[in-house]
Amino acid sequence: MNINNIKKIGFEILKNADIYNIQFEISCLICEALNISKIEFIKKNLNLNSLQIKKCVNYFRRRADNEPLQYIIGKCEFMSLMFKNNNHVLIPRQDTETLVQLIIKNFENKSCIILDIGTGSGCIAASLAYYLKNSFIYALDVSDKALNVAKENFKNLGVENKIKIIKHDILKCFPKIEEKINIVVSNPPYIESENIKKLKNEIKNYEPTIALDGGSDGLVFYKKIISGIDVDNEVFVAFEVGFNQAQNVKKIMEKKLINVFIKKDLSGFERVVMGTYKPICNC
Ligand code: GLN
Repeated sequence: MNINNIKKIGFEILKNADIYNIQFEISCLICEALNISKIEFIKKNLNLNSLQIKKCVNYFRRRADNEPLQYIIGKCEFMSLMFKNNNHVLIPRQDTETLVQLIIKNFENKSCIILDIGTGSGCIAASLAYYLKNSFIYALDVSDKALNVAKENFKNLGVENKIKIIKHDILKCFPKIEEKINIVVSNPPYIESENIKKLKNEIKNYEPTIALDGGSDGLVFYKKIISGIDVDNEVFVAFEVGFNQAQNVKKIMEKKLINVFIKKDLSGFERVVMGTYKPICNC
């Protein structure tokens, strides 16, 4: 059996699945199963042994069962960097690049200490550490399994010396960090608990609920973080929000922050809300 035959089998198995770009996904699954590049993939004379065929078919079946491509191949690109991921962490989304880009744009060439709350795969923390040369990041998460993935990503991307991992439950209290934090960033869980069951199968059946569930109104993490920020220096806060949450999050932020702005993502949704905390000066 050669590459063309296995492509056809992939198509047969996946043609009825709800996949936006089926040919692309089949090529990714085959390349990963055979451990070949996209260049080798176009060599039609590449023959497959029975073990390789079995592996490809296994990947196709998992995908047909709605398992996300990124979990099957175990990796995902974000901000032009490659991240390992598995079902203990949320798959990095393109929307989140808007949040990361905004911070990079505002803090390029400045030295800054950043707190990333709910780091998951570590995609936000690692990208900021990678592109902001004078930054240091505290990456927080409640899940040990997620922190293991993040740790591996930080190491693979060569930024492990610029990031300190902290296991912490933000819902219990705001973390005590000795250094002055300049930026608080978070893409917290923000789906209303009731709506989780309405999400697509590939999300609700595979991505960790703990990374999705934002409580009954979807806003519990924003409220907790904003009420917890109690620092004595200026801090910039930037959140990713659900497509219809920006105005609500803005209101929450305005209780404590000034200059609260909303930024749209590339699809035109209000995706990022940011603001600044300025301590009241009694002098
Ligand atoms: N910070 C990670 C990301 O943006 C994880 C987010 C989460 O688990 N809610 O992908």
